[in-house]
Amino acid sequence: MVTDTFQALVARKTNGGQSVRLEDLTEADLPDGDVLVDVDYSSFNYKDGLALTGKNRILRRFPIIPGIDFAGTVSHSSSPEFQPGDKVVLTGWGVGENWSGGFAQRARVKSEWLVKLPAGLSTRQAMAIGTAGLTAMLCVMALERHGLKDSGNVIVTGAAGGVGSVAVRLLSRRGYRVAALTGRRGEEPFLRTLGASDIIDRAEYQAPGKPLEAERWHGAVDTVGGTILANVIAATAYDGAAAACGLAGGTDLPSSVFPFILRGVSLLGIDSVQCPKERRIEAWNRLARELTDADLAEVTTEVSLRDLPDLAERILAGGVRGRTVVAVRGSE
Ligand code: NDP
Repeated sequence: MVTDTFQALVARKTNGGQSVRLEDLTEADLPDGDVLVDVDYSSFNYKDGLALTGKNRILRRFPIIPGIDFAGTVSHSSSPEFQPGDKVVLTGWGVGENWSGGFAQRARVKSEWLVKLPAGLSTRQAMAIGTAGLTAMLCVMALERHGLKDSGNVIVTGAAGGVGSVAVRLLSRRGYRVAALTGRRGEEPFLRTLGASDIIDRAEYQAPGKPLEAERWHGAVDTVGGTILANVIAATAYDGAAAACGLAGGTDLPSSVFPFILRGVSLLGIDSVQCPKERRIEAWNRLARELTDADLAEVTTEVSLRDLPDLAERILAGGVRGRTVVAVRGSE
């Protein structure tokens, strides 16, 4: 048995709640699973912020290595589907919540949770996309399945965040006219670089509005929920749709039935955690095709494992721009 150690961020239960710190572990500390992965990169998502700060009971067992996604190289596999050397990505399935996850140099998981990286996508690029980018693509795919046409006007809320920034890039690249709703006016240049045509101040959508407003949006990617989502739905055009994936602004939805019964508006729920494997593979293939190196560089910041506790507070306060890649072996 291999007994060499590797670094991991470990959450342990304490009397007052939980502690999170860097530790040296061995493979015996990892859960059972049929594939062992040398992790190259993880990424930092809103849910990781909740997990590291102990909010919303994201962490379901202790001790645990948080980190809801990772990309790396298979080192051992007893599954015929994966061979040592395969480059893989994992998002969701409760990893980093009730199964040790990506904030470590090694991970042992179930083969059915892994997706092989599409050709041409590096492990770093995969984590520049990460759970947030995958979710952005699942939103775009849901809107297109609904019938959104690429001449449409689309709004993205929480636009300067992880899901939002990738959604703005994907939608503008496909030819939609994209309005970016943000609470950070200072991020306007960033959002314009990603292809946003219009910038909407979050304050405009924050107060409760009328059940029906002027029809502005053919589609929406909503990462924030609450009153903002209700106002987006009220301003969605006939037969339009809003893809709801997030709760950064609240978990309630103070809306009415009028947009649904008078305008045929659809609310599309998006879940990346248990999303079926075929749809994930389609999404990863599209992400690899539709995002360039420059797109990913534009939205990405790199940090190391020791930076994560501070970052957790910052992401929950809405202070992180774009995507954050975690170099679990240290920055280059
Ligand atoms: P980020 O923190 O990167 O982005 C969230 C953005 O929301 C912020 O950057 C900010 O954008 C905006 N925001 C923050 N606080 C508020 C507030 N109080 N009111 C209104 N807007 C606010 O997080 P992620 O992109 O990683 O995740 C976004 C959301 O999507 C989260 O709720 C997350 O849990 C959810 N999610 C869901 C998934 C699923 O499977 N359904 C998968 C991945 C994420 P700005 O400054 O531009 O206003």
